[in-house]
Amino acid sequence: MDLRNLRLESACALLQQEMPAMDMPDPLAYVQNVIDGLCDLSLKDPLTGLSNRRHFNMVLESEVDRVARSGEAALLLLIDIDHFKTVNDTHGHPAGDQVLRVVAKALQACVRPMDTLARYGGEEFVVVLPSCQPSFGHAVAERIRRSIENTRITVAPGVELQVTISIGGAFALQWIRSTTELWTDRADQQLYRAKSTGRNRLCLEPQPESHVSAEEKNLLFGHLSAAEPAWIDMSSVAAHGSNGQR
Ligand code: GH3
Ligand code: MG
Ligand code: MG
Repeated sequence: MDLRNLRLESACALLQQEMPAMDMPDPLAYVQNVIDGLCDLSLKDPLTGLSNRRHFNMVLESEVDRVARSGEAALLLLIDIDHFKTVNDTHGHPAGDQVLRVVAKALQACVRPMDTLARYGGEEFVVVLPSCQPSFGHAVAERIRRSIENTRITVAPGVELQVTISIGGAFALQWIRSTTELWTDRADQQLYRAKSTGRNRLCLEPQPESHVSAEEKNLLFGHLSAAEPAWIDMSSVAAHGSNGQR
């Protein structure tokens, strides 16, 4: 295969701002750079540098699969900046952009490397936390909320802002094959609750009490989940459609 036959002009034009020095003598390194750059463009949010919604959806999809097979706990958090429109209206759109960048950085500092944080759109962020025990979920999300509340954001010389966030969260239903949509809907309902009960707060979906350990469940159902788990998330199917507006 002769790499020189590849037509890379359009890809390079797309990447020009990101990678101005594209005249590499090694053709393999050159093509690798083009590929890496295109992957970055398609998976990352340009304003904050976080994963974008497309990347997040892929991660969430595989997390749903992992939870159904392993029965491990996983938490999904939807995060929305409170009264963000007022920031834009009062200080201008560039100041709003700066708030988004700083909030993104502060959120990133709160999560583990194994967690995936993404910009979901506008002033909304989302994080999936694999292997997050229900007993830790509240503490983790509350730490995130407090961290943003305590972050001071300089948007212009001498102009410092503070913003708050509302968080809605839901755990994946263990041992049950659900969908990314149902899981997101459940977290979204909790975010709606956080907004409608005053903002700057966290609402987590109540967890059903389980007295059967993961090990016991594995003994009971392990042979079934080794094949394609077919249980459908009926509780969430019932909840589907009551998605609140923010
Ligand atoms: P709430 O507390 O109910 O969430 O109120 P809110 O003002 O945060 O929500 P609303 O949906 O009314 O406004 C969100 C605003 O976010 C409106 C939109 O112009 C702004 N926005 C979305 N994307 C961007 C962006 O990339 N940069 C900036 N500066 N603003 C953005
Ligand atoms: Mg919003
Ligand atoms: Mg908002």
